[in-house]
Amino acid sequence: MTDPLSHSYYAATAHERRPQFDIEGDLECDVAVIGGGFTGLGAALACAERGFSVILIEAEHVGFGASGRNGGQLIPGLRWTASELEEEFGRERADALFDLCWRDNRVKARIAQHGIDCDLKTGHLEAAWTPKDFDAMRREADYLANRFDYRTDIVEESEMATHIASPLYHGGIHDPRGGHFHPLNYAIGLAQAAEAAGVRIVEGCRASLDTTKARYIINATDSWIGDIESDLGRYTVPIMNYNIATAPLANADELLPTDAAVADSRFVLNYFRLSADKRLIFGGGERYSQTPPRDIAAFVRPFMAEVFPQIADAKIDYGWGGAVAVTMNRLPHIGRRGNIFFAHGFSGHGALVTTLAGELIAEAMAETAERFDILANLPSKPFPGGKWLRRPLATLGLLWYALRDRLG
Ligand SMILES: Cc1cc2nc3c(=O)[nH]c(=O)nc-3n(C[C@H](O)[C@H](O)[C@H](O)COP(=O)(O)OP(=O)(O)OC[C@H]3O[C@@H](n4cnc5c(N)ncnc54)[C@H](O)[C@@H]3O)c2cc1C
Repeated sequence: MTDPLSHSYYAATAHERRPQFDIEGDLECDVAVIGGGFTGLGAALACAERGFSVILIEAEHVGFGASGRNGGQLIPGLRWTASELEEEFGRERADALFDLCWRDNRVKARIAQHGIDCDLKTGHLEAAWTPKDFDAMRREADYLANRFDYRTDIVEESEMATHIASPLYHGGIHDPRGGHFHPLNYAIGLAQAAEAAGVRIVEGCRASLDTTKARYIINATDSWIGDIESDLGRYTVPIMNYNIATAPLANADELLPTDAAVADSRFVLNYFRLSADKRLIFGGGERYSQTPPRDIAAFVRPFMAEVFPQIADAKIDYGWGGAVAVTMNRLPHIGRRGNIFFAHGFSGHGALVTTLAGELIAEAMAETAERFDILANLPSKPFPGGKWLRRPLATLGLLWYALRDRLG
């Protein structure tokens, strides 16, 4: 299938991958994983390590979905702040969520364990769009330090130039445990590690729940989950998000001197970072229609020019997009129904936590569901409206927040 959204820097610089297994083979196995993104690959690898025979079925190719086209920003935590989690769920659950989602960096661990070559860099900066946002960030940084002994650097507005050459921001929080990477090469590296551990990966095959007779099935199809289990599709809406990559920039190190990934605090956020070959990879603007803009570069450029007027006219080599599966409350929806496990709806905050979610599924199957349940017990509600009304209703809500952003 030709995907008009796949003209990405990642696809152009992906490591070679030769599929090793084809559909002609025997599909009998203990575990069938549907979906070859971070969630499915993380789960497949962890299941194989625990002695299960595993087949992973991917409709297109490994990393085809959000995992191979995201901003590459590795941001510890979830879409909620740790203090919001504690306020809502109490001290004990906040501790458990914090240990998993902030401290347990499974991506870094996998990269080190399997020697995955994916341009990993350290450092993430959250940049404040308004002074009020900065006050909230500072309070959160103090809370993280006092409550969890988790130290981040508070960057005053006057010090922002250390990290970013943009006049827009009113301060920020730098987290040295965050970072960025080449997401498609990470997915390919995970696939190779999974194959080395015995996982049979079938690509170009669209699965349904009847495709295999496995003991367990893991539905890791995120934005497509409703195609397989329509009830699960009610828990997310896909929001289109777009990225560009400039040509390599002579002044790249001046734009982002510490090479941190940056995400700002707008509701429809801007997020950006440098690639290994010194391009600016910039994501900004959301579309609530499924139809992509005819010219993605022209759609994203104004957001980039607002942040970095000095490269407003830079040559843009790539423009691509993908669907972010968003839940009602922006927390992932993870669970088990009989012998089927699922994890989806990471709401734009999945680059780090998906690998963990996959591993926790394997842990729940083979050993104990204790840690899996910490994520599976997060509350979730389906979006209101039936198949046709769900998206327009969710869109109205999102437009309201985007408007609030613009009004400051
Ligand atoms: C443009 C964009 C930017 C983002 N930026 C960031 C970021 O910077 N930081 C961050 O933390 N998160 C980001 N995210 C979110 C993050 O990428 C996702 O949360 C994460 O990749 C989801 O991984 P996944 O494995 O669950 O799903 P996916 O990677 O989407 O994988 C699902 C796979 O299932 C396959 N599939 C679907 N149906 C079937 C079927 N019937 N049979 C077989 N296979 C099927 C698809 O082809 C796909 O490969 C971004 C997302 C997008 C779209």
